Amino acid sequence: MEIKNGIPVSPGVAIAPALVLDSESFRIPRRFIRKDEVDTELKRFELARAKALGEISDIRDSVHSVAKEEVGLIFDAHMRMLEDPLITREIPEKIKTKRYTPEYAVSRVFKKIVKPIKELNDAYFIQRVNDFYDIQKRLLRNLLGQRAHDLTELDRKVVVVAHDLTPSQTATLDKKMVAGFITDVGGATSHTAILANALGIPAVVGLGTISSDISGGDVVIVDGKSGRVIVNPDDATREKYEVRGQGYLDREKRMFEAASKALRTTKCGEKLNLFANIEWDDEIELANRLGADGVGLFRTEFIYSKFGAHPTEEQHYEVYRRAHTMLEGRTLTLRTMDFGADKFASEVGLEREENPFLGCRSIRLSLREPHLLITQMRAALRAAAHGPTKLMLPMIGSIEEFRAARQIFENVKTDLKREGIEHSTEVPLGMMVEVPSAAVMIDSFVKDAEFFSIGTNDLVQYTLAVDRNNQYVANLFKHTSPAVLRLVKQVIDAAVSHNRPVSVCGEMAGEARFAVILLGFGLRDFSVGPTALPELRTLLSRVTVAEACELAGKAMELDVADDIADLLDEEVKRLLPSEEFGE
Ligand code: PEP
Ligand code: MG
Repeated sequence: MEIKNGIPVSPGVAIAPALVLDSESFRIPRRFIRKDEVDTELKRFELARAKALGEISDIRDSVHSVAKEEVGLIFDAHMRMLEDPLITREIPEKIKTKRYTPEYAVSRVFKKIVKPIKELNDAYFIQRVNDFYDIQKRLLRNLLGQRAHDLTELDRKVVVVAHDLTPSQTATLDKKMVAGFITDVGGATSHTAILANALGIPAVVGLGTISSDISGGDVVIVDGKSGRVIVNPDDATREKYEVRGQGYLDREKRMFEAASKALRTTKCGEKLNLFANIEWDDEIELANRLGADGVGLFRTEFIYSKFGAHPTEEQHYEVYRRAHTMLEGRTLTLRTMDFGADKFASEVGLEREENPFLGCRSIRLSLREPHLLITQMRAALRAAAHGPTKLMLPMIGSIEEFRAARQIFENVKTDLKREGIEHSTEVPLGMMVEVPSAAVMIDSFVKDAEFFSIGTNDLVQYTLAVDRNNQYVANLFKHTSPAVLRLVKQVIDAAVSHNRPVSVCGEMAGEARFAVILLGFGLRDFSVGPTALPELRTLLSRVTVAEACELAGKAMELDVADDIADLLDEEVKRLLPSEEFGE
């Protein structure tokens, strides 16, 4: 039994065998072969090794003419590794005596090779580890062939273990069979965290080397509340976590019941709108069940995982129209695509950038390639004929950017009218406030933008210069930083005083501890992952605006983020006591 601690990002307990994905989505099964299969499997391994050797030899020859001799030497070394007895003898030995599949034998032997080298913690040797991974991947690719990417049909519940989960990997997983997620990298607002929350799946991220420490088939416990991950637990531990898991489910049930009876206002009768953030249109069903007042953020870039790099206008339109059908008249807020940095950069063939979070992501890309924006805007305006729609621009940093996008939007309306295509012109154009320059200059934006949604995930990242996906700085990613809170308050104040709708759609809005302070700042519209809705509804129905303002006032007098967090936690304990909801 081994215990690891990471960053908890989606509560609940999962207990299931591991499905390990490496960075190329290889799925390494723990499967045993029958005695009569040993010869065939040995031949399969030999064939894969021979193919790998042939590939490396071709690469070595092709680089020979264009690169320095040292580069060729790297590939000579790779070939020598493939001839090493550890590979030529130990892998076949495991296939013969332990009856491992060749894939599993390869992953076991490479783990054994790499572990002591990694423990040296030396930069030179870490580079050598990458060489071993390279060879392992080559062997696995040759062994698995097409099967490498077949993740769509899983026949039993699994805990997915990966270095990181790209949106496209997640999109291809059979989600009904995923009991939990654990990853090497990531922070509390990374896309793995957002997706796990959206799917209501327990998840822990930032576990360092978990994807190379665990083998396919190891039994894993994931505690998405404490961040603890236990590999191959003993019986007593397993039982303890089964009870804890049931405790979480009971809490969720009690929260759902409380929410369905709760006021849809604050305790003092102030009207609230609790919207859902969604990644796929299918999530609307869950959002409806949990009482969402509409969709406050549709991350439309996920459409690109379904249809490929260039969805047509018709494909966009069909998704949006279907969303309207499911929403039955409630508002749909579509965000134009937010590619780049952590989202789909490689899938849509973006060039690698030195610093992608500060690079050509999101609206910058849309303005560089306006056809992307035009396609989406046309589809959105057409779909708006079927239900109330708002269109939101991500990552706006300057008024010029907003105006350039507005110009395109107006041109699209003119074109649709000229072409006689059914559409609605009643679509407000708003923006995310997630770049600090926009928050600072909010008084200018209120004249142009028709609504605002504060994206705290990026706002915290850019204000504090803390990568939202990096586990090494996760302890510095603080929503309660006084600098962040001041910006959030300033945006809400400006929007309210100019009568512009404003919501928060970053993960901050969905965490119980931040709800009251946001209410105290004047926020009435929250947009959160659907699974956060019951807790938020219950909590907000138990507090008055006066109490929230008092708490916000006290918090703003403090200048240490952790002191503010403690103050907010106390309030949550008062409003959602553990005697009532358990923990
Ligand atoms: C945000 O940045 O807070 C946000 C909601 O956008 P995303 O998480 O998709 O970047
Ligand atoms: Mg963002």
